[in-house]
Amino acid sequence: MSRVFRKQQKNLIKDVATQRMWRLFELAKMEYAEHPDRSERYVQLIRNISMRNRMSIPREIKSRICKHCYAFLVPGNNARYRLNEGYIVIFCKHCGKEMRYPYKRLD
Ligand SMILES: [Zn+2]
Repeated sequence: MSRVFRKQQKNLIKDVATQRMWRLFELAKMEYAEHPDRSERYVQLIRNISMRNRMSIPREIKSRICKHCYAFLVPGNNARYRLNEGYIVIFCKHCGKEMRYPYKRLD
């Protein structure tokens, strides 16, 4: 197996993994209102994919998962989002902790 081929295959696996994370994220959003427990399960699956493939979770998805208690965060429901000096500050009402990420516009 050539190096180039191996690299292409690795990229393909990562593409598929990213797609799966987005699909699970959509499911988590859809199920939250009626089955918040399922949303938690989807979050767990997203984290598993990220760890197994040693890749980071896309930023938009990451900002919807509490990094302390891994709750699925829904703005105006169990989470509060505000901007502060170039950071987005997310408060998780589930565990009462905050996290902050550098803020860049999501176009
Ligand atoms: Zn939390």
